[in-house]
Amino acid sequence: MRLRLVLLTAAVAAVAAFPTIPLAAKVLYNPDLFQGDIKGVAGQEAGRERAAKLGTEFLWPWGEVPYVLGRSITTDQSSVIQAGMKDFHAKTCLRFVPRTTESNYIEIVSDDISTSCWSNVGMIRGKQLVSLYSDGCIYTGTAIHELMHTVGFFHEHNRNDRDDYVTIHSENVDPDVGMSNFDKDENWQYVGEDYNYASIMHYDMYAFSKEWGLKTIVPKDPNVVLVGPFKKDSMEESDARQINTLYAAECARRQ
Ligand SMILES: [Zn+2]
Repeated sequence: MRLRLVLLTAAVAAVAAFPTIPLAAKVLYNPDLFQGDIKGVAGQEAGRERAAKLGTEFLWPWGEVPYVLGRSITTDQSSVIQAGMKDFHAKTCLRFVPRTTESNYIEIVSDDISTSCWSNVGMIRGKQLVSLYSDGCIYTGTAIHELMHTVGFFHEHNRNDRDDYVTIHSENVDPDVGMSNFDKDENWQYVGEDYNYASIMHYDMYAFSKEWGLKTIVPKDPNVVLVGPFKKDSMEESDARQINTLYAAECARRQ
């Protein structure tokens, strides 16, 4: 009995030391998805998984992303999504436009069985889903993050130059999730901005951690605190500049 009590006390202490992962973070760390929240492979072609940004075929023509809100989207969820789109409209040349007859478009859903947040990277042709699961993904920052994948961007912490800015602590990474989530993107395209800790595409310090509280991404600058997308209301100016650079030619065609 005493042993049982000791074990119980130890278990309670362990829980207290490592609070559970906030749902809004956990839904971005789906172990079945590339880097936690990227669906399938960009371009759907083996070996080109990380090449979306390199090919103009992955860009949305004229910088316009036709969209449909799935039937699962409630009025409140729609408001959050619209706030995210508004951020793109305020800072970038991209436009999310209600779909009419376009064959390439996104449908945003909140009831996907993955119960997580995800998008493809770039336009993959046909209808492509963007998942903002009702329980955990309905935040303006999360919507902006996923939509930035949709238009062709990967994660900031997977940039090739990230080792100059952060240290990845593999000993704290959940072994069930694996280190592949921290692989550096190899086939990406530099679009003119330095590494930005505050990018909407940067995960927080506990991403894919085996225990919330054990840091996996530690900034080399000790004054920096990494904040997850769901805690933000807008993209960084440098995020916007990258979008405008990537889409300059496409947006110019619209005018
Ligand atoms: Zn992401």
